[in-house]
Amino acid sequence: MDKISIIVPCYNEEKVLPLFYAETAKAVADINDAECEFLFIDDGSSDHTPEILQSLTFRDKRCRYLSFSRNFGKEAAMYAGLQNATGDYCVLMDADLQHPPALLKEMYRVLKTEGYDCCAGFREDRTGEGYLRNFLSRSFYRLCERLCDLKMQDGAGDFRMMKRAMVDSILSCREYNRYMKGLFSFVGFDTKWIPFHNTPRAAGETKWSFLSLFRYAMDGIFSFSTMPVTLAGITGGLFFTVSALMGIALLILLLLHHTIGSLAPIVCLILFLNSIQLLFISVLGQYISKDYMENKNRPIYIVKRTGGF
Ligand code: UDP
Ligand code: MG
Repeated sequence: MDKISIIVPCYNEEKVLPLFYAETAKAVADINDAECEFLFIDDGSSDHTPEILQSLTFRDKRCRYLSFSRNFGKEAAMYAGLQNATGDYCVLMDADLQHPPALLKEMYRVLKTEGYDCCAGFREDRTGEGYLRNFLSRSFYRLCERLCDLKMQDGAGDFRMMKRAMVDSILSCREYNRYMKGLFSFVGFDTKWIPFHNTPRAAGETKWSFLSLFRYAMDGIFSFSTMPVTLAGITGGLFFTVSALMGIALLILLLLHHTIGSLAPIVCLILFLNSIQLLFISVLGQYISKDYMENKNRPIYIVKRTGGF
């Protein structure tokens, strides 16, 4: 019999976890030809999430959990989940019921009967999200496609069911700076996209601020593209040409009129070119700092406690 591993990263989800478990258990009871396991990753929660997970492992033998020693982030939690999952199929789900459990049956059917390696959900609307966040996230997907040469479906999250072969390929990417949406695309395999409606989270609050989303987006770009450094070179070349032409023009002006007029334009130009330099030094710094972290070879997560194993 096939086994489906349901991997759920949880960070301070005490309000929604019992509801998530009830809804998801109901949905998987409907899948006749496969058994399921629940693998919860407590990402260093400071509320009662670990206690709730512990009681779930007592109630239901299909449940297991890992507790991180601190908050390592959703990427680390998903990685830990995939590493510890034993199923032939693995599905990543948020704990807040924004990923409808009712789709699990359909995802499994698609993988089983249609020959795909992965079946991923994407939000066909973004109702309930602010206009600005909506606009920024659309622009980010477009930028990523351009810069990183990765195919990313607009509205795609991490909600997807994958066959074992795809899971193993993702696990073989051992980098420290992980960006799962990029890795899904990087490893290839055939993906079928199925739409679902965006719903507000069932309870609790979102863990993402604008700042953390921005940082996440930058991490994604710098982990998957070296285009920003190339852009730095192109811009540098462009400014070199412009400043060389301006230099020649100023020289001519000096020869003809014995003056170059006010210093203001020159000061402005120097400031402008300096700012461009600083900007691109920071771009280089991003890559060097990523490499620095990779070279340390630190663990992606640290487990403090487990349950149900
Ligand atoms: N999450 C996590 N670690 C974090 C932040 C979030 O494991 O540092 C989990 C969270 O518990 C949830 C999922 O990632 O199951 C998605 O988080 P959230 O719903 O806050 O994000 P949003 O839906 O607002 O993008
Ligand atoms: Mg959510």
